[in-house]
Amino acid sequence: SNFTDLGLISPLLARLAELDYASPTPIQAQAIGKILAGRDLIAGANTGSGKTAAFALPLLQQLSEQGSAHRDKGNFVAGLVLVPTRELATQVADSIKSYAAHLNGAIKTTVVFGGVSVNKQMQNLRGGSDIVVATPGRLLDLIASNAIKLDHVRTLVLDEADRMLGLGFAEELSQLLALMPSTKQTLLFSATFPEQVTALTDKLLNNPVEIQV
Ligand code: AMP
Repeated sequence: SNFTDLGLISPLLARLAELDYASPTPIQAQAIGKILAGRDLIAGANTGSGKTAAFALPLLQQLSEQGSAHRDKGNFVAGLVLVPTRELATQVADSIKSYAAHLNGAIKTTVVFGGVSVNKQMQNLRGGSDIVVATPGRLLDLIASNAIKLDHVRTLVLDEADRMLGLGFAEELSQLLALMPSTKQTLLFSATFPEQVTALTDKLLNNPVEIQV
């Protein structure tokens, strides 16, 4: 299969060509169309599978088609990507920004993570974001200071869910989930599926497509 068949729009296809992505990886081939169709998703996938583009490309496409109305009224966000570590946060945000290169700057992606000063991150969140990539603890801190609100989240991505729960973020995660609308699209990526992850998927996902690569 190729990226055009998956229904991706030309600004994304042009960027993939520049990056020399000749064809979708298996997870991309299986996930992108389903995500564009609005389905919830559970994906068993490791680093190196191309999982970042599998969720980032359809997320960018949905947000660029929806416009930026969701951030007019405050520090809102439409697409929220939760990750376990600051390294992954930086890496995922950089990938998203790279894939968005030809979307006319219409997509604002903000990254937040712990261990560094909060001030710059608060500034970056001002006026809202289309996509926020965040570690759970720092995101809760920023919500407590009204720097960001989750009321308008339309798509939630949980990346490396097993590592996130393994690092002890279950409580933070459940606090964050309580602040989001229940009517949202949820995409969960995990290398392994221990009971903690299965319990989360059972509770959180609505009739999900399941993919294992
Ligand atoms: P990930 O699994 O998301 O960490 O991606 C692993 C690496 O594969 C990254 O360096 C991506 O830039 C690259 N990559 C992702 N999708 C493709 C593709 N369809 N063709 C070539 N490289 C890709």
